[in-house]
Amino acid sequence: GSDQPDRLRLAVQKKGRLADDTFDLLKKCGLTMSQSKNRLYARVEQLPIDILLVRDDDIPALVAGGASDLGIVGGNVFEEERAAGRLGDNVPMVVPLGFSKCRLCIALPKETIYSAPKDMAGMRIATSYPALTEAWLNENGVEGARTVVMNGAHEIAPRLGVADAVCDIVSTGGTLDANGLAVAETIYRSEALFIGGPLDGRKAEIAEALRLRIEGVQRSAD
Ligand code: ATP
Ligand code: ZN
Repeated sequence: GSDQPDRLRLAVQKKGRLADDTFDLLKKCGLTMSQSKNRLYARVEQLPIDILLVRDDDIPALVAGGASDLGIVGGNVFEEERAAGRLGDNVPMVVPLGFSKCRLCIALPKETIYSAPKDMAGMRIATSYPALTEAWLNENGVEGARTVVMNGAHEIAPRLGVADAVCDIVSTGGTLDANGLAVAETIYRSEALFIGGPLDGRKAEIAEALRLRIEGVQRSAD
């Protein structure tokens, strides 16, 4: 089982964009797993590591809470959890991985006149990143703006009249364009992060072995 204290736990996204890149990295690290991806755990064959297969949103709290020793998660998700104060005092260490890059952007209806953050004063912004959005609004002195939390289909919120703007992950901008929206501001540039620790004893050794393999893959990619 996975309760053996000498096995390190690494939480990764079970299925999705980050999962694809994560499993690709683990493969390049020369690691293979003994179970199928649709189980809760997968056992790494070359190192004493159990891979915890979860929703990406759960990874920061699993690591901060100690249920998992390490995790691989998007900076967007990690920083949102941190900004929302959900990681408590146990904020893990972070190593940027250089993949799964994306941007968190505020977009406005194309006809909205926009030249500076103050033009967003009083707007309702539909997002699933309320903490990062509110932090940006505060840092930029945007007055009276507020977030409306939505967990999907943000881009239709302005047409529905429930928001004046959206703040969401943008890759090509095609979805925004199709909904009559255009990027006004990029508020966060994200990439996958290797999070966790500091660890001690046997777990620190295993984590170091994994980190060295990742470093090797990164070096050969440069
Ligand atoms: P889950 O079911 O685990 O909650 P999800 O639907 O929240 O999955 P995905 O769409 O699979 O998430 O995206 C996971 C992460 O991948 C995002 O949080 C972000 O860090 C990264 N990501 C999102 N979009 C892109 C993109 N277009 N290109 C690269 N990376 C992306
Ligand atoms: Zn998610």
